[in-house]
Amino acid sequence: MVKKDITTLDILDAFEGGQLCPLCQLWIKSEERLMPYLLTNEVNMDPDFRAKVIGARGFCNRHMHLLYNTAYTPGTQDGLGYALYMQDVIKLMLDKIQETKSDIEEIMLKASGMLSKKKVAKIKQTFNKLENNFKGTDLCPACEYLRQLDTMHTGTIIRMLDEDEEFRKIFLNSIGFCVPHFISIIKIVSETKVKNYEMILKLLFDVESKNIERIQILLTKFIKRFDWAYKQKSYGEEIEANNIVKNFLKGVEGLKI
Ligand SMILES: [Zn+2]
Ligand SMILES: [Zn+2]
Repeated sequence: MVKKDITTLDILDAFEGGQLCPLCQLWIKSEERLMPYLLTNEVNMDPDFRAKVIGARGFCNRHMHLLYNTAYTPGTQDGLGYALYMQDVIKLMLDKIQETKSDIEEIMLKASGMLSKKKVAKIKQTFNKLENNFKGTDLCPACEYLRQLDTMHTGTIIRMLDEDEEFRKIFLNSIGFCVPHFISIIKIVSETKVKNYEMILKLLFDVESKNIERIQILLTKFIKRFDWAYKQKSYGEEIEANNIVKNFLKGVEGLKI
């Protein structure tokens, strides 16, 4: 039996029913916890984290918006943490755009006698440089953190499958993983030292095949509901068929692994 701690308890929780892949459930839960955490003084004042935010020129589209919404929910500091992150980024953007502006002016000055084609090419180079500067080099720090947690959760699930008979039973009755998480877990299993490699693979493939079969049946039932000749319409799980197939094929909204 694997020792119970916050991570294993969170994992067991995610396996308790529901129509969402357990790793996707953990992803969403981690994201919900992460947003307010990023706005605490502890993270906000951490120079390493601030550097990451600057490196990524803020956060990705999803996390810029989610963090903004979190910053304006009651109980927060009315956007102060958000503004502090963005102040750094905006300062750098201003430096970069001014740099490009003077580069262009210099080209214009030096190249007054130059063929216009050559001049345009040189100016285009400065645009490319600016584009790269505006994009930044780092991955969105929120996405990076969520990916790390996702890898940790996946590793713990593998360990639980390897060592915990009780958990294997729970897993066998679960709906399995979404496609991105299934691919990720079978890759990680092959790179992990486990005692029961073949058994784990068999379990993963058994549960996943059963899940795909179930989704196929749900879709067939759902489509059948639109058949005029089919009078007796049932109201089972198939009502959710499209929602289930969406989350199965691509994972939960915002998943980036
Ligand atoms: Zn998933
Ligand atoms: Zn992100």
